[in-house]
Amino acid sequence: MQHFDIDKVRKDFPILAETVYGKPLVYLDNGATTQKPQAVIDALVTYYSSYNSNVHRGVHFLSQKATDAEEAARRGVQQFINAAKEEEIIFTKGTTDSINLVAFSFAKRYIQPGDEIIISEMEHHSNIVPWQMACEERGAVLKVWRMDENGTLPLAELDNLLSEKTKILAVTWVSNTLGTVNPIAEIVAKAHAANVPVMVDAAQAIQHVPVDVQALDIDFLVFSGHKIYGPTGIGILYGKSAWLSDMPPYQGGGSMIKTVSFDGTTYADLPFRFEAGTPNVSGAIGLHAALQYVQAIGLDKIAAYEHELLQYAEAQLLTVPGLRFIGTAPEKSATHSFLIGNLHPFDVGELLDKQGIAVRTGHHCCQPIMDKFGIPGTVRASFSFYNTKAEVDALVAGLHKAVAMLS
Ligand code: PLP
Repeated sequence: MQHFDIDKVRKDFPILAETVYGKPLVYLDNGATTQKPQAVIDALVTYYSSYNSNVHRGVHFLSQKATDAEEAARRGVQQFINAAKEEEIIFTKGTTDSINLVAFSFAKRYIQPGDEIIISEMEHHSNIVPWQMACEERGAVLKVWRMDENGTLPLAELDNLLSEKTKILAVTWVSNTLGTVNPIAEIVAKAHAANVPVMVDAAQAIQHVPVDVQALDIDFLVFSGHKIYGPTGIGILYGKSAWLSDMPPYQGGGSMIKTVSFDGTTYADLPFRFEAGTPNVSGAIGLHAALQYVQAIGLDKIAAYEHELLQYAEAQLLTVPGLRFIGTAPEKSATHSFLIGNLHPFDVGELLDKQGIAVRTGHHCCQPIMDKFGIPGTVRASFSFYNTKAEVDALVAGLHKAVAMLS
């Protein structure tokens, strides 16, 4: 597993040296949020201590410097996902905010009563509820692409769902609960063959899989900064300019206008028409530092390392008596969800916590997945490239202990 210098990488993340209840922290809740490298922390401190200022508004030195840094961040994101134009990158608060923007503005422009929107059964609540709201608002119908028992979306089923009434397909790239990696290229190709645009939720893909929106011909792509080692409160909406420039603004306010009078308002061009109000300048700068950090290591190397770690974890976890995986798709990324016998996931999670091991328990904002499997929740261990085999061993030892105590 010599993809990069793991000891050096771990030293880049100060929090990994913390102890919890006197035990070394084993952080396996990366699906919820990732830890931050010193480079990101430094970028935030430097911004606030030397050039904090509002952007796009001032002629003064600091404002220009902050504006330049924010716009450099936009180009950094553009390059990271290989978008064709920088104005196709919209800064938002996060994945949830980005999806709400698309659901609101796309639906307002293109969705009529009786039209259909397709989402999958494995979506995070943030890729369900905004579409339900859009359907309610526009009198449209939400269609659900069901999955198999192993947590795979059958491609043939998509053919049955797509119709001339379908206006958009919104689907996750990687399931935060099951770890399933969906075949985005094939999904987009099928949808496009039916003239249906695709919005890809990349919240759990951007940090694990190299992304090229042009090669994949993705119409909209959304993700959060905090899941890719950047700050909270910043996210990205990528949209093809042909779509975005035709969609009405999501929110009104400063920065998103060309002219305002009491007779009427004209809107700014992309990307600003979707960025009302003072943006999260520090967030954009921190995200830029995070993307540069990830690029310096290389997403290919990260993906290969995490794949090996996931396979190692699978074999080790199966030594725990009564453990069964929820989500056994052939293509998985960075996440194992499981249950052990009749033990409640919360009890298992609490006992792990006392051993310094951070996992997530519950429905992971995916209640329909829990309904599908008839379970109250799962224990979820989600990995990053800074995790080690030794940490997997600690998790497995912790689970053996939990089983002994709870059985
Ligand atoms: N989509 C997926 C697949 C997620 O895993 C998450 C967060 O866990 C979200 C959307 C929502 O992200 P955020 O809470 O950062 O807006």
